[in-house]
Amino acid sequence: MSLLDIDVREKAFGSTIVLNDIQLSLRKGEAAVLLGPSGCGKSTLLRIAAGLDRQFYGKVTVNTSQPESGASAPPIAFVFQEPRLMPWLTVAQNIGYAGGPRFNAARVHRLIDDVGLTGNADTLPKALSGGMAQRVAIARALYTEPRILLLDEPFSAVDAFTRMKLQDLVLKLVEQRGISFLLVTHDIDEALYLGDRIYMMGVRAGGIQHDLPVDVSRPRDRRDARLAVHKNDVLTALQAAHVI
Ligand code: ADP
Ligand code: MG
Repeated sequence: MSLLDIDVREKAFGSTIVLNDIQLSLRKGEAAVLLGPSGCGKSTLLRIAAGLDRQFYGKVTVNTSQPESGASAPPIAFVFQEPRLMPWLTVAQNIGYAGGPRFNAARVHRLIDDVGLTGNADTLPKALSGGMAQRVAIARALYTEPRILLLDEPFSAVDAFTRMKLQDLVLKLVEQRGISFLLVTHDIDEALYLGDRIYMMGVRAGGIQHDLPVDVSRPRDRRDARLAVHKNDVLTALQAAHVI
């Protein structure tokens, strides 16, 4: 059964159609990746999936039971490209922000440890590196105990080595918690390393051009020859869609 069904018939900004005839589903336990060139509508699609944009023709269906943390907690959490932390709040306060002033301190401190920021509970965002700030953003998303995580190019502002560490961190955290995710990227290697399934978007309003299952078991090795074979398939599909 799918947790999330996205069916966008059309999405336009003014007279410009940005998304046209896009269907995709996120199954339970699945890691789905949306791969496409800059400007093709990835962020727009993810915002629609999150319910942040309702101005479109089509339908988004979320099929999750209520999380244990309470009836009002949303089943979907979002990690943006930039951390979007409140500069006047500490790391702990940013993570527990959704819980208001009486946030669950034990849960916040467990998350601080889980994302590798032990000892930084009282640090302010201005003292964090880009990678550390994005760890806080990941912890903040997990605080609400979502069933589905939507990530919009979450590692694009950090260096290549930090990026690999953050990719492994997200994989570990979602696996521990049984979270399914849909991640947007324009990085082919990232898509192949993270995804069980890669949805490739074409240029603007081109829809999903190709849908590629990545049948490589986990934990994956970035040097796995099977990933290199899949990379050939991705490059061929992107070429056929005139993306490259
Ligand atoms: P991507 O995330 O794939 O780079 P976006 O979803 O951000 O692409 O944008 C897709 C297209 O829609 C772009 O041409 C962008 O300029 C346009 N667009 C995005 N948001 C808005 C908006 N709020 N108003 C008008 N145009 C927008
Ligand atoms: Mg974007």
